Amino acid sequence: MNRIHTRLVLGLTLAVLVGCAPKETPPLAMPTPSHPPATPAETNTVTKTDAEWRKLLTPEQYHVLREAGTERAHGKAYEEFKAQGAGTYVCGGCGAELFSSAHKFDSHCGWPSFYDPANAKNVRTREDRSFGGVRVEVLCAKCNGHLGHVFKGEGFATPTDQRYCINGVALKFVPKSAAPRTP
Ligand code: FE
Repeated sequence: MNRIHTRLVLGLTLAVLVGCAPKETPPLAMPTPSHPPATPAETNTVTKTDAEWRKLLTPEQYHVLREAGTERAHGKAYEEFKAQGAGTYVCGGCGAELFSSAHKFDSHCGWPSFYDPANAKNVRTREDRSFGGVRVEVLCAKCNGHLGHVFKGEGFATPTDQRYCINGVALKFVPKSAAPRTP
């Protein structure tokens, strides 16, 4: 009886253990995310309140960067842009490196033009269907500030045939001589 009893206990214990085991364990089971993957806008590293932006920016910068406005063509910022030499153009809102003087060219459009970003990861684009057309908007990927638009295939004799048409007030120029030296 003892042997039978022992077998019965072992059998019941085994049945309970097997019953507790998961029915199926996928070999590559991954934890289910509690929320969908972040979009580029949600991965921004610079977030400020509207009041903070208004305090930080000039009214014209605020209109362009935070309200997707457009500065007047051939304005003061464009004249300054044309006169600037070697250097880097950083975001007027958050300071992220966006464009380089190495990629600027004269498109005669009245706004600063570049054929490529200096740091692609700091620049993002999205479709813009405002004003009855379809354009590609250019934004700072760090603070989500509106910079301008990018146009392709216009026939400019540049390495990319792209024209990043950027508002001058959305940029801050850092002359090469002012950039910190790297070892
Ligand atoms: Fe920015």
